[in-house]
Amino acid sequence: MKENINALKSGYKSFKEFGFKENEARFKKLVENGQNPKALFIGCSDSRVVPEIIMDTKPGDLFITRNIGNFVPPYKEDEDFHATAAAIEYAVSVLKVKDIIVCGHSHCGAISALFEPPKMIDRLDVIHTLKWLELGYGAKDQVEKIIPHEDIEIKKEATEKLSVIHQLENLLTYPSVKKGVAKKDLFLHGWYYEIENGNISFYNEIEDRFEPL
Ligand SMILES: [Zn+2]
Repeated sequence: MKENINALKSGYKSFKEFGFKENEARFKKLVENGQNPKALFIGCSDSRVVPEIIMDTKPGDLFITRNIGNFVPPYKEDEDFHATAAAIEYAVSVLKVKDIIVCGHSHCGAISALFEPPKMIDRLDVIHTLKWLELGYGAKDQVEKIIPHEDIEIKKEATEKLSVIHQLENLLTYPSVKKGVAKKDLFLHGWYYEIENGNISFYNEIEDRFEPL
């Protein structure tokens, strides 16, 4: 297991020597002027979906929040700790981003778990994960109604895409998002990334389908 952390340490050394030097001026400017990202990216924590790589962005370009399943919990006025909600509020009200992208992806473990819950795990060890996955059941249940007899892999893919649309709807429960969208200061985008071929498609609301980006 030591190789894992050693690989990360040597990755850092290479960054310090090359990557940081290449971007040094940019980092300095970002410190002096502060960050001014144009978009909020809400993606899955999946290690295979790396926003900076799939959109070829540089430091300062994107404000990113990633969670299991790229879910957006509906707005809730309470005193609890809500990481994704805080990131949305900060991006919209403080950083004043112009676009929010919710990006789902193929072979998503969160969506898969809705169909085939992992066995042999102590419930207490994954209690927050199980609660969090509830944010995907709306899409899953809808898919089960529309295409009940399809192959499970087809149903999973349909759920991955439909869930993106559900999360966009949840975004609109945030007062600041709703206001921004109504004033056309803020635009919402639903994307779907395919790990196996690098394709991204977007949700065309008028046609009600995903199309190549
Ligand atoms: Zn995922």
